[in-house]
Amino acid sequence: MNIINKIDKLEELGEDKIFGIVNEYKDDERDCKINLAIGVLVDDNKLFKFNVVKNEEDKCKTHGYLSISGNSNFTKLHYELVTGNKYTDELVYQTLSGTGAISLAAKVLNMLDYKDIYLPSSTWTNHNNIFKSNNFNINYYDYITKPRLDNDKLLESLSKVKNSLVLFQSCCHNPTGVDIENDTWDKIVELMKQNNNIVIIDNAYQGLVSGNLDEDNYSIKKFISEKIPSFICSSHAKNFGLYGQRIGGLIINIDNKKLNNYVKKIIRSEYSSPPYFGSSIVENILSNDDKYKLWAKEVYGQVIKLKKIRVHLYTKLRQNGIMWYDIMNTNGLFYQTNLGIEQIKKLKIKYGIYMLENGRINLAALNLDNMSYFVNSVKKILK
Ligand code: PMP
Repeated sequence: MNIINKIDKLEELGEDKIFGIVNEYKDDERDCKINLAIGVLVDDNKLFKFNVVKNEEDKCKTHGYLSISGNSNFTKLHYELVTGNKYTDELVYQTLSGTGAISLAAKVLNMLDYKDIYLPSSTWTNHNNIFKSNNFNINYYDYITKPRLDNDKLLESLSKVKNSLVLFQSCCHNPTGVDIENDTWDKIVELMKQNNNIVIIDNAYQGLVSGNLDEDNYSIKKFISEKIPSFICSSHAKNFGLYGQRIGGLIINIDNKKLNNYVKKIIRSEYSSPPYFGSSIVENILSNDDKYKLWAKEVYGQVIKLKKIRVHLYTKLRQNGIMWYDIMNTNGLFYQTNLGIEQIKKLKIKYGIYMLENGRINLAALNLDNMSYFVNSVKKILK
């Protein structure tokens, strides 16, 4: 069989859903269009840029190669930011943003012959892609009974998972915006310990719940202090606005240096070494007290803005008889509406409002100028 026959035998595969919607949005010529689909911080209908990041853009020192595990100043500072602990030679790798960190974790766990992974019943679609393409059997644990996190179901469901891998999102849950509270994290950590599970923590939005970088990582600190074997996968796409620079990190909370060369062997064969630019920006900011303070202030500013958007939207919806009460229980960029596929299609076709098929909207893309248009359009399609 030649290659053309082999390709013909493959099942037809649509374009990636999110990137497909973004392309449709770009091609839409209406001025009124709103892109609520992609999860990015927005300012004045454009990608939000942190000032403190802008100031570092010309300071990229080299175009040389980094080592396999990345910029060592960055990985040290990354470790300290994510865990709140001083770095003392733990396993940390600079990765191709959050996706690259999760994907690397999946490859390491696959190499160690793990076969099953438990994901939240509602989660970021790429979790499925990553673990499927690394040959895992995907299972789910109960997460939410709208409008609230269902703690009882969550804990009951997790109590049945033994000797396996469980993925959690540390904060700003995608797509629901509904996060696990600290006392529930305490119970989860106990369960993970009793049941001999390994955790993968997806930390894509640190800082964007509370505006306090040292509060949003409660679960991570707890998993580490209780010595649960953890693969902590973080992204700096959102909290530094460095989306396209692909900067993130993987921390493996296992005290075994033998693993290090195996992880590096995987990296070497996948992409050899990570890119420099984003790591140098993050390094410069995290290593300087003044810059760190400016950055933390800007992160906090985005949180305040998101909270204001929630209040405005909730109020406007109520004034129009639309009772999306649960918006106020959510954190971060996302809210998952109850809109169905047909309604979502109508919003796109009739009004140029783009959102994900699972009902998720990025609240950061709403503002005082487009909010009324959004609410009126929703009102019309709900009639
Ligand atoms: N995890 C979650 C839950 C996310 O929402 C995202 C961003 N959409 C990521 C990981 C990783 O994104 P990136 O690879 O751009 O850092």
